[in-house]
Amino acid sequence: MAQEKIQAIRGMSDMLPSDAPLWHFFEKKAIGLANLYGYQQIRTPIVEQTRLFKRGIGEVTDIVEKEMYSFVDSLNGDNLSLRPENTASVVRACIEHNLLYDAPRRLWYMGPMFRHERPQRGRYRQFHQFGMEAMGFKGPDTDAEQLLMLNRLWKELGIAPVRLELNCLGQLEERKAYREILIRYFEEHKEILDEDAQRRLYSNPLRILDTKNPDMQDLVNNAPKLYDSLGEESKAFLSSLEDILKAEGVDYTINPRLVRGLDYYNLTVFEWVTDKLGAQGTICGGGRYDPLIGMLGGRDAPACGFAMGIERVLELMKECGVHPEERECDVYIVWDKALYLNAIGAAEKLRDAGIRVIVHSGSMKFANQLKRADASGALYALVIGSDEAAAGKVGLKALREGIAGYGEQKTLTIEEALEFVSKNI
Ligand code: ATP
Ligand code: MG
Repeated sequence: MAQEKIQAIRGMSDMLPSDAPLWHFFEKKAIGLANLYGYQQIRTPIVEQTRLFKRGIGEVTDIVEKEMYSFVDSLNGDNLSLRPENTASVVRACIEHNLLYDAPRRLWYMGPMFRHERPQRGRYRQFHQFGMEAMGFKGPDTDAEQLLMLNRLWKELGIAPVRLELNCLGQLEERKAYREILIRYFEEHKEILDEDAQRRLYSNPLRILDTKNPDMQDLVNNAPKLYDSLGEESKAFLSSLEDILKAEGVDYTINPRLVRGLDYYNLTVFEWVTDKLGAQGTICGGGRYDPLIGMLGGRDAPACGFAMGIERVLELMKECGVHPEERECDVYIVWDKALYLNAIGAAEKLRDAGIRVIVHSGSMKFANQLKRADASGALYALVIGSDEAAAGKVGLKALREGIAGYGEQKTLTIEEALEFVSKNI
């Protein structure tokens, strides 16, 4: 009887080998730039206590209200959640291990996050983020440093230009004053508010500005601007940040409606947006979160950070025609059946020198072996045949046009072959 096939969970994908080169390319660039800017890696667990996120992200945010994978650990009754984002966890770890005790910290992370959303292009239930958190820095130089790094990353990935949208949320007091102004404005136009907006009117009115509903665009475009509620210090913070961006040639637009979903942001908020990915065009979001460390029980320290959705970035790389290739190996060994010890010995010798090798396995027909060699992307085939072996030699055949030795099969000692390959891969 045929067994029922077990499938992956909806919205949670396998990364297949065909996409591996794209992921590796991204990871190498992102980690390389994190190092270039002096950031260190941190890894936190995927499961945390639910209250970390409730407190850290805010009870009335979309994430906590309806997107979190929360469950009771049946073995001990603990309330746990799969992390929907990483900032709260990183802050928790910094407090727990006293990382900010003697110096500020520049940190980066990468890994899977989980949100129970409706799966669609660019929106998954397990997705991956790369992010940075700079803790103990007042800014705006640090805010700028992260934006410069991101601008550089888009270029290196081949997806520039991506649009930078920037806003300043001011401090809590300023936002409270604005909140009242905004509630009054929306109350006057209650008939235009959709269901989501009605629900958010008193819980999170700023988030209404973020609506994608076309029927509400006029309403939110004409809403009073947060900028007008900002004090001098907040305005000066924004303009110093703008000065650095201008001096470094980073294009941006001020989007007065950009508020971001999370409760803990202050001053700087930003998003990097592309038009090439349809509705899920925000590839990265971040900003300053000076209140968060205190909110989670640490000693107050200013901080800023961002998170990018890696799947969306990779999708954009594909849209932009970025197709990094990776060969499975440098050298593919084809061999005569009786000579398996020679083949394995040769392979290990090459690997000692850091050359990536696959020894053919499967059909021993010479033509089939060479077909597999070609498909592997290898640059060279090393031929372990009986004639060569009798003379204490191996055959070396270049597989791609344009690489050294193409067009003829060389007969060499294994040492000579190793030297030749090393020089030419
Ligand atoms: P959105 O408005 O698209 O829901 P968000 O404000 O919820 O995004 P953040 O919490 O700021 O997103 O996360 C940072 C980045 O992570 C987003 O800009 C996006 O690129 C990515 N991201 C968020 N949710 C998902 C998801 N469900 N699937 C894939 N990527 C996601
Ligand atoms: Mg979301």
